[in-house]
Amino acid sequence: MSDQARWLSLPEALEAIKNSVSPRPEQTQVPLTAALDNVAAQVITAPLNVPGYDNSAMDGYAVIAADANAGNSLRVIGEAFAGHPFSGEVTPGTCVRIMTGAMLPAGADAVIMQEQTDRTEQGIHCQAALCEGDNIRLAGSDLAAGETIIRAGQRLRPVDIGLLASMGIAEVTVNKPLRVATFSTGDELVPPGQPLKSGQIYDSNRYTIQAMLSRLNIEVIDLGLIRDDPEAIAAAFKKAMSQADVIVTSAGVSIGDADYTKDVMAQLGEINFWKIAMKPGKPFAFGKLGESWFCGLPGNPVAAVVTLNQIVQPLLRYLAGEDWPEQTMYRAVASKPIRKKPGRADFQRGRLTQAGDQLEASPVGSQSSGVLSSVANANCFILLEQDRGNVAAGETVTVLPFDRLLQ
Ligand code: AMP
Ligand code: MG
Repeated sequence: MSDQARWLSLPEALEAIKNSVSPRPEQTQVPLTAALDNVAAQVITAPLNVPGYDNSAMDGYAVIAADANAGNSLRVIGEAFAGHPFSGEVTPGTCVRIMTGAMLPAGADAVIMQEQTDRTEQGIHCQAALCEGDNIRLAGSDLAAGETIIRAGQRLRPVDIGLLASMGIAEVTVNKPLRVATFSTGDELVPPGQPLKSGQIYDSNRYTIQAMLSRLNIEVIDLGLIRDDPEAIAAAFKKAMSQADVIVTSAGVSIGDADYTKDVMAQLGEINFWKIAMKPGKPFAFGKLGESWFCGLPGNPVAAVVTLNQIVQPLLRYLAGEDWPEQTMYRAVASKPIRKKPGRADFQRGRLTQAGDQLEASPVGSQSSGVLSSVANANCFILLEQDRGNVAAGETVTVLPFDRLLQ
């Protein structure tokens, strides 16, 4: 790998990254209560039917459908509650009081809703006709034993946890969370909580980056704030390499940066310094330092956010064992003109709103790559394609709603 003078399109950069890595996540067993947001390591099939037995979807009476015509009277011979089945059998002329979720008694093939009956001294009087199967949840109608419920490589969502619980599964084999080391570089940076001197700014990138990473169930290793000093940077990289699967840093990767940063990296591993045809986020470094993958984000806060979201996120999810992720995209109408020069794919910070029966998108705030508040006020990226020029109001644009890293 070497310096590349040529500009890469974002898809080319993503393709190059995908082709460089071969994910080999380690597996571990976790209790169901700790499985949320982890990536399932193996396919999980349903070990049993859900529901496990035919049961009532209503409060009412378990009956033989053919027997429960409007106007008929039935004798109540018992009760079935959730967790307390009726052990006898429903025979013609009889019924069993039944509650939602209770097991359907033998003999019955339908449930008549309480509201469609009158209680009489002997039993009930039916006000409606029924068909076989009415108001019954059949065994296996939610999931049948043997059905796939979780794919290998699936990131577990809250409802997946519930689904596994409904199957009686208490432990899941998942891929071990990735370890990602981060540090900021820059002599001008000061950590929040300390006073600023003239010419200094607060280090925000490290905090944004770590917060975004935490949405991906990543074990974050915080290596702090490193001075623009080759020895300090080399020491930070060595520390990161010994502990992390991936190293994510911000600043120090643009062409104009002091050469020693690149020299330091070149000594420790093989890094590409890419100019990616995207805005914000032009400079981006990617490569390998020992056994760790390295992603060098630009220093400008919005550029760091966009490149982490668009370039590093798919890499991290892929390394964690997920399929290479696809993004959700919408088509919306630009509600005002947007200035754009052809040449780079532009990730404008915007707001997506419903306007009548169409989606409308409009850029928000300053589109400078240093203005983090523009991301805070947005709910989407308006993605203006690389070759596109100015956009007139009313033109169709591609919109990427903010994903969970940015929500
Ligand atoms: P650089 O990549 O070092 O040329 O930095 C580009 C811009 O991003 C400069 O204005 C830096 O001050 C700013 N910057 C770099 N690192 C950070 C950081 N950790 N937090 C906030 N701003 C930063
Ligand atoms: Mg700098």
